[in-house]
Amino acid sequence: MIHGNIGDIFSVDNRIAIPDPVYPVYLDSNVMAGRSGNYIEENGKYEKIEYLSCNKENNFIPDLPKTRVDIIYLCYPNNPTGTVLTKEQLKVWVDYANQNNSIILFDSAYEAYITQKDVPHSIYEIEGAKNVAIEFRSFSKTAGFTGIRCAYSVVPKELMGNSKNGEKVSIHNLWKRRGNTKFNGVSYITQRGAEATYSEEGKKETKKRIEYYLENAKLIKNGLKKAGYDVFGGENSPYIWLKTPKKLTSWQFFDLLLEKANIIGTPGSGFGTNGEGYFRLTGFGSKEKTINAIERICKIR
Ligand SMILES: *Cc1c(COP(=O)(O)O)cnc(C)c1O
Repeated sequence: MIHGNIGDIFSVDNRIAIPDPVYPVYLDSNVMAGRSGNYIEENGKYEKIEYLSCNKENNFIPDLPKTRVDIIYLCYPNNPTGTVLTKEQLKVWVDYANQNNSIILFDSAYEAYITQKDVPHSIYEIEGAKNVAIEFRSFSKTAGFTGIRCAYSVVPKELMGNSKNGEKVSIHNLWKRRGNTKFNGVSYITQRGAEATYSEEGKKETKKRIEYYLENAKLIKNGLKKAGYDVFGGENSPYIWLKTPKKLTSWQFFDLLLEKANIIGTPGSGFGTNGEGYFRLTGFGSKEKTINAIERICKIR
């Protein structure tokens, strides 16, 4: 849960930019910390959060923040949309952060799913990123560790923050101090499991498993496309993000799938206002069940 804890080292006065839709932890942990302001607007958005809209219209590539922000959350390959940024597109954000004294919190939990050549596996492939970015890496999706949890963060020694009175502060030291105080570490048996993923056999097995999930994602994507659905992601990610048909809301589509096909997925609206009218499916299943599910979904229409 690094993503939920990193806020400990930053002031509650910091302005935060968060993509919409987004992995809910980023937003909720900031609301709990008190960075979201005093009220929720009519459209369900928090007063002080700068939302970065990602939708079909902008190809799920958010615009830069309209007003200056201190912290920017980015997640690529993205959960929930399954979309990616190329090196060139990610550089825009690194440059922004360098020019505006912002810090990027980059979540690369799905890095192992990247198949496209010009998509960076780490933000540090971008020049200047070491001065502005923290990267979160996790064994959860790379090696099926969601049940036992092991993850790590990269906080470059070059990365400096600003204290309220304008002094430079080492973010690396702050985060180390926070960890030493509040975190007892990952259990030894889990660490040995994580270590094993770097062995020759471990690398082979995890690679094979990821290819299997990616194949499922491809089956879902192609099957839905054939059936006339508008689908995104699924090529550098286990996630398929689809536009619900006939202007159904995310939950209306959820009910339809459940009632007509006995299938459940994740309503896009749970990931933010911009997720309304979208739906997330995943390749994290068996190939047999995936094929069967697609057949059933296609029969609905
Ligand atoms: C699953 C997931 C994680 C995993 O986090 P851990 O706490 O390391 O298990 C991180 N980020 C995103 C976007 C995820 O979907």
